[in-house]
Amino acid sequence: MIDTNELIRRNAGFAEGGSFAGLRLAPSGSLTVIGCVDPRVDPSAVLGLELGEAGVIRNVGGRVTPATLRTLGMLAKVVQARTGGPGPADNHYVVLQHTDCGITDLPPFPELLAEYFEVPAEDLAAKAVTDPFAAVRLDVELLKRHLRAGVFVSGLVYDVATGLVDVVVPPARVAA
Ligand SMILES: [Zn+2]
Repeated sequence: MIDTNELIRRNAGFAEGGSFAGLRLAPSGSLTVIGCVDPRVDPSAVLGLELGEAGVIRNVGGRVTPATLRTLGMLAKVVQARTGGPGPADNHYVVLQHTDCGITDLPPFPELLAEYFEVPAEDLAAKAVTDPFAAVRLDVELLKRHLRAGVFVSGLVYDVATGLVDVVVPPARVAA
């Protein structure tokens, strides 16, 4: 177990590095990533993101759920409050899912998944829970229906065996 003393020790090293200094709330890379909680797939590590470059939302499966959309809605309000505008026109939203995801073990628990996606259990097949490639495509489409026109959305699947990411949905602007 990593205890608090260890965390404090590591944090001291981080603070000494100074990479946190002068960062702004809005991501410097105009990037928001929706990824999975799985410790193997930390988007910052997998995609080589520096501190401050991207906002990262993580949940089980890296799925675009109603809760994800509510979080994005709140973030949009925060950016509006801080900057007086909607944020950069070229904001890029990435859905990052992965192979061997734990969510593929959950179909035996349809009530859990139905609650998670806020759909009736009989509609769960449409969520492609066992196929990250299909799920990424679905979630990119869902995201596009909720984001403002002009921003970019893309969908990636990370392979936990190779460490490589597959571009399943290339970045495209949300239509007006
Ligand atoms: Zn996962």
